Amino acid sequence: MNKIRDLIIIGAGPASYTASIYASRYKLDHAIVGLMPGGAITSAHRVCNYPAFEDLSGNDLMMKMRQHALNYGVEELVYRVVSVGGNREEGFYIGTEGGKEFSSRALLIATGTRRRKLGISSESKFEGKGISHCATCDGSFYKDKVVAVVGGANAANMAAVYLSEIAKKVYVIYRRNELRGDRIWIDEVLNSGNIELILSANVIEFLGDETLRAVRLDRDNMELEVDGAFLEIGADPALDFDPGIKLTDEGYILVDESQKTSKEGIYAAGDITNASNGFQQVITACSEGAIAANSIYYWLKAS
Ligand SMILES: Cc1cc2nc3c(=O)[nH]c(=O)nc-3n(C[C@H](O)[C@H](O)[C@H](O)COP(=O)(O)OP(=O)(O)OC[C@H]3O[C@@H](n4cnc5c(N)ncnc54)[C@H](O)[C@@H]3O)c2cc1C
Repeated sequence: MNKIRDLIIIGAGPASYTASIYASRYKLDHAIVGLMPGGAITSAHRVCNYPAFEDLSGNDLMMKMRQHALNYGVEELVYRVVSVGGNREEGFYIGTEGGKEFSSRALLIATGTRRRKLGISSESKFEGKGISHCATCDGSFYKDKVVAVVGGANAANMAAVYLSEIAKKVYVIYRRNELRGDRIWIDEVLNSGNIELILSANVIEFLGDETLRAVRLDRDNMELEVDGAFLEIGADPALDFDPGIKLTDEGYILVDESQKTSKEGIYAAGDITNASNGFQQVITACSEGAIAANSIYYWLKAS
């Protein structure tokens, strides 16, 4: 018979470690069950917007955060969660790949998102070596250089405008014949002096040796010399199981201001939720994790 903890946190990113640090201070018996300790930010080679750490790698930042949580005594179990069941009366249980089961009185889901990929073979070779998924995070590394933004909806248009203020030239490569999204961003793209639109085109190959040098397109045999390529083709919520709670149309977990989901005893935090005004950053994930732990503590106390 599995022991029943106060709390199980699913995921091992900033939202989870922060929630764990607070849960430890509240003396909640809890465990983190998550894959890929550190989460999405470990793929960022530099993070310059997390307060008190001016410039460090995403991996270094997360190993500090993880160590902080471990020092406070959390048990970290590295598994993919594939099922969630139970309820407030009988408690919750989670099932993992490989058939392990863990039980708790409350659950926190903090599984983040997965960036969409183009799915072409040369893509993984240049991930973090010229290919980025976050203009706000990595744009400053391309001062006076030439970059491409792949995509043509809001996120891509915003990224292109942001990058146009840093880079010498920005190509926007989009598979449709016109940009989509908010008119204000489309106008900014069109009125910028250094953004060139390449429509009705798809990237079919990334070229280079150690780092990215060019992209090849399926239109007119085009090959564009670039120092960086920002893939802004969206991200999808990472929910590999059905927790039986309300989601947005896009599949993000709906939470209230206390990070509570539609099901009593289940909370969610970080990029997987609709909270923080959709601003998906380490600091907002941490903040939601802290709020969730605080809410769970008071909920457990009252239950
Ligand atoms: C390349 C890149 C650069 C970035 N740069 C910055 C930056 O400079 N500054 C900034 O603030 N933000 C940046 N971000 C955004 C930042 O990484 C995210 O906002 C943040 O990591 C969200 O934290 P999270 O805890 O919600 O989720 P994540 O960090 O995505 O963590 C989710 C965790 O859940 C695990 N998981 C998922 N599904 C399961 C499952 N079924 N079972 C078990 N575990 C599971 C994952 O493996 C992971 O450990 C960047 C993102 C990327 C991709």
